[in-house]
Amino acid sequence: MTDFGGAIKKSRDYDLAIIGVPFDEKSCFLRGAALGPAAIRAASTGRALNPFTELGVNLEKEAVLVDWGDVDTSGDVDKTFSRIEAAVLEVVGKKARPIILGGDHSVTYPVVRALAKKFSALSLLHFDAHPDLYEELYGDRYSHACPFARIMEEGLAKELVQVGVRAATSDQRAVASRHGVRMIEMKDLEGGPVLSFRNPLYISFDLDALDPAFAPGVSHHEPGGLTTRQAVDIIHSLKANLVGMDVVELNPTRDPSGITAAAAVKIIKETAGKMVQKGRGSRKN
Ligand code: MN
Ligand code: MN
Repeated sequence: MTDFGGAIKKSRDYDLAIIGVPFDEKSCFLRGAALGPAAIRAASTGRALNPFTELGVNLEKEAVLVDWGDVDTSGDVDKTFSRIEAAVLEVVGKKARPIILGGDHSVTYPVVRALAKKFSALSLLHFDAHPDLYEELYGDRYSHACPFARIMEEGLAKELVQVGVRAATSDQRAVASRHGVRMIEMKDLEGGPVLSFRNPLYISFDLDALDPAFAPGVSHHEPGGLTTRQAVDIIHSLKANLVGMDVVELNPTRDPSGITAAAAVKIIKETAGKMVQKGRGSRKN
């Protein structure tokens, strides 16, 4: 049972599509993120949780959520990135919203490349301990430490807001300021920021944004992060038209209790609920 609280249906037409990307070839430290999609699906079973979000959306009744399956990640990286792009284009071509299960964070670049073909102005909300703005890492411009540098230099997004950062280098700060990136660092986080976006919004959620106490199942432990509650509150209070999301960097080899996979499911459910809610704003405000 791998069904997001029982909400997954089989249908040719749908509102939301889960896309797995079992890929970790661009991880600079530990492998394991390729096991992420299967672990997230397993943790989502309707035998353990129900299809309601905290804001009262019934994902089973109020939306058609399908599981598109996994992108083929065999062969070289260029092929994988092209297949990711094609999968996202197929979903947005149906006016539906993709929910990508990573995989390491490198997969966000081809996802956004696809979205940029559909949305001329796109905003990004990026939860992460790291800015992922390296020009290159160990000679690799497509490392999981680099996707937002590629996205911004290619002009694929108009706006990038980062939340949860606590491992920025001076080089990455320089890249951030060159591209007008708004970095909401942990050291400056006060209460729950209410974020509003005028352009269609894509959320990229690196699970290491969460404190390792709440989400140990990631490759790069960086203490001092968000509580799962803080992340959910920020998502609930968003004022934006959400057009898709990813949850990346789950490393099940470091998640023996499954708590990180459970946090991933929680983040996905609550964000999917925001996608389903009609109109802009939230019931909280
Ligand atoms: Mn990342
Ligand atoms: Mn990270």
